[in-house]
Amino acid sequence: MSNSSINILLLGSGGREDALAWGLRQSPSCGDLLAAPGNPGIARWADCLAIDPADPDKVVALARERNVGLVVVGPEAPLVAGVADACREAGIPVFGPSAAAAMLEGSKGFTKDLCAAEGIPTARFVRLADTQAALDALDEFGLPVVIKADGLAAGKGVTVALTRDEAEQAVRDLGGAPLVIEEFLDGEEASLFALVDGPEALFLASAQDHKRVGEGDTGPNTGGMGAYSPAPVLTDALRDRAMAEIVVPTAAAMERAGTPFSGLLYAGLMLTAEGPKLIEYNVRFGDPECEAIVPLLKGDLAALLLSVAEGRLGQVRPEVSDSTSMTVVMCAEGYPGMPRKGGLIDGIEAAERVPGVTVFHAGTARHGSGALLSAGGRVLAVTAVGPTLAEARALAYQGVDAIEFADGFHRRDIGWRELERKP
Ligand code: AMP
Repeated sequence: MSNSSINILLLGSGGREDALAWGLRQSPSCGDLLAAPGNPGIARWADCLAIDPADPDKVVALARERNVGLVVVGPEAPLVAGVADACREAGIPVFGPSAAAAMLEGSKGFTKDLCAAEGIPTARFVRLADTQAALDALDEFGLPVVIKADGLAAGKGVTVALTRDEAEQAVRDLGGAPLVIEEFLDGEEASLFALVDGPEALFLASAQDHKRVGEGDTGPNTGGMGAYSPAPVLTDALRDRAMAEIVVPTAAAMERAGTPFSGLLYAGLMLTAEGPKLIEYNVRFGDPECEAIVPLLKGDLAALLLSVAEGRLGQVRPEVSDSTSMTVVMCAEGYPGMPRKGGLIDGIEAAERVPGVTVFHAGTARHGSGALLSAGGRVLAVTAVGPTLAEARALAYQGVDAIEFADGFHRRDIGWRELERKP
């Protein structure tokens, strides 16, 4: 069965999903490729259908109607809504965890409790559900201190408070909602991506991203302005420690709890003087890290994801190129606040004539005239693969410079931290 081609339904509409669609379309085992809802970039590789990806019944009905043999879930919302559970109940293989396992992302408190129970290295923390108790608990922590909302907040519910006043304000701003207060971890951040299938966990890739909107990592947080893979700062030794001390015990604990994890587990790590510590989990690929990672994966991506969905991870070894990739995100002016939509975009073909460059669509719309317009904050994810990070960066910016996007902006310094480390 695994040797024949299968129809695949991809859920989502961002740059991450465009990269997945690009990788799936090149997979020999991929038959028809459908996307719900997709975007104009994904439409290059897949048949896009206007269906709500977070509606379990609609997803299952579409999968049945089109004889889908694998559902690949891009974003977290369908996972939290139980789409993967509905697919499994209907006997449709799905790449993505159950709603119960998606708690690793959906509740920071759940993950912190799991870390405490399993001895997984993470910041010291307390979980609280009322404002006064939280204000009192601040006494137990030094400064800076980190205050987090205990639910899905798309990365926005986190304050790193430098002063006691800021910390108290952050607690009050949460208005009595459940929260986590934790110790500030000092170090460099890196992301680790692992395939997990019940108790099995396999390292896939590492990456670093740039969250701040401004050059030099300044200004407000965004979904991500650029990324590169691999992250040399996560050495083989640190990767092995993070797998052994963090990811593998998490997979084992989820299995024992009767809520096994299946899919992609993304560990946000702080590389501290004492070793890697877990900051947070995501239960799906990051965006834009996914756009940087997928072009490095060799072999049949569809077959790899299907092996996880069918519980055969133990039998596969993902092949990853030893090149480096970089993704530069082109945004609409106003992002991350109120991005200006409708900006005309041109030159994608010219960008893709640069060797090693692929332009993924994150937030675009096709006008009736055929023109491509911006339709979101993050608009394009320009990715280049090269033999070194410096070469990948040069190619990525050649790609960016070939694109005309009047209302757009991007950072010119993606990868600076790593590149400055070089002699
Ligand atoms: P999170 O949503 O938990 O990933 O937090 C968002 C960002 O806040 C992280 O990427 C870190 O930059 C920062 N952060 C979160 N927790 C800590 C911590 N305990 N120490 C230092 N920085 C943190």
